[in-house]
Amino acid sequence: MDFELTKQQEMVRKVTRDFIQRELTPEVIREHERAHKYPAAIIKKMAALGLTSTTAPREYGGAGMDWVTHGLICEEIGGAWFSLSLIVNLVHVALVQMPLVYFGTDEQKQKYLPRLAKAEITGCVCAVEPNVGSDALSVETKAELDGDSWVISGAKTWITNASSADILMVLCQTDKSKGLRGLALILVEKGTPGLSVKDIEGKTGLHACPTCEVKLQDVRVPKDNVIGQVGRGFQTTVSGIANVRYSLSAACTGIIQACADASAKYAKERSQFGKPIGSFQLVQEMIANMLVDAEASRLLYLRLGYLKDKGLPCEREASIAKLFSTEAALRASTNAIKIHGAYGYCDEFPVERHFRDVMGPTIFGGTSEIHRLILGRDALGLDAFR
Ligand SMILES: Cc1cc2nc3c(=O)[nH]c(=O)nc-3n(C[C@H](O)[C@H](O)[C@H](O)COP(=O)(O)OP(=O)(O)OC[C@H]3O[C@@H](n4cnc5c(N)ncnc54)[C@H](O)[C@@H]3O)c2cc1C
Repeated sequence: MDFELTKQQEMVRKVTRDFIQRELTPEVIREHERAHKYPAAIIKKMAALGLTSTTAPREYGGAGMDWVTHGLICEEIGGAWFSLSLIVNLVHVALVQMPLVYFGTDEQKQKYLPRLAKAEITGCVCAVEPNVGSDALSVETKAELDGDSWVISGAKTWITNASSADILMVLCQTDKSKGLRGLALILVEKGTPGLSVKDIEGKTGLHACPTCEVKLQDVRVPKDNVIGQVGRGFQTTVSGIANVRYSLSAACTGIIQACADASAKYAKERSQFGKPIGSFQLVQEMIANMLVDAEASRLLYLRLGYLKDKGLPCEREASIAKLFSTEAALRASTNAIKIHGAYGYCDEFPVERHFRDVMGPTIFGGTSEIHRLILGRDALGLDAFR
């Protein structure tokens, strides 16, 4: 197995690091996070570097990168500013653009992908509902055919990017009697009568990234707005969620590494009992554990990226990587706060933001419990869900 990056992958990583150094200063991040401000101007700058369309094909205006390169970008951006990585790498690219690439009609691809690639428009995927979370198959939002239109009614919640989205991809039930085989992913454009979006306030973290409630009241869209096939909506949606799990593992690797770096720096600078706190073995143990977690998490996502690039099955590997990396990021950020003491408890140091941001990743893309049950099913052949 080859562990070396290609020249192209190293070059893209350097471009990303330079961008972070130049644009994502602590002041810029703090200003957006405190004001809960969507980083529109920063996203435009990312578009100019191809970072808003990493894996989308060149023929539709994308950057045509492989998944390993996308992962490297997620690690860098995720470690610097998780809100931005969630908006761009995880949702805009992995969740929205790629299912359109895999399942969209040529007309849908021509219409939306080039503008998504340049971030002239953005999108979101609306799967979860007030009564439907982990049990994603029980979708209650209805879509009924009326002539040449779908008429959609229902409610979605916890939808990343919805308030800034120009296109919303909505998972709907077209025929309750068919269950899974009745589901369809249907595209709704912003401004369609009957569609309303509201930001969720009071979130623990991810303050610069909008998370929203979406209501649909007799929303009428053309029959051709189905992405993929009616009856295959779950598979279409899951194709994007699988990409999110990969991207999450990479972005959380960035957080773990950022916690280790920040903790090592602080532990050398801060003295108590007449010597640097980094000289105490209990502090060194916490930093050593972060480094082990960062390395293990990196190997997991890179292997998963390799499998994705080869087009090999990787559902199990995606669950392992998502579960490990998100929980390791939670451990790392908790210990990073401990090492910073009271100074870790305010936003003067980035570890405070990492600590608030990492709980979200253990929930979306499938909770830790759901991934343990997927892995249990794989190991035992026994399905705990149904
Ligand atoms: C910041 C953020 C962004 C999000 N972005 C999006 C988005 O863009 N689009 C979207 O559609 N959704 C999004 N979500 C929603 C997310 O996918 C759901 O929150 C997640 O699937 C879990 O659903 P739930 O919150 O309803 O929890 P529930 O499913 O109600 O689970 C509650 C608890 O019960 C546990 N549980 C549930 N079932 C089982 C079981 N069978 N066995 C053991 N334990 C179980 C869970 O693990 C969890 O601990 C987002 C959520 C967050 C927090």
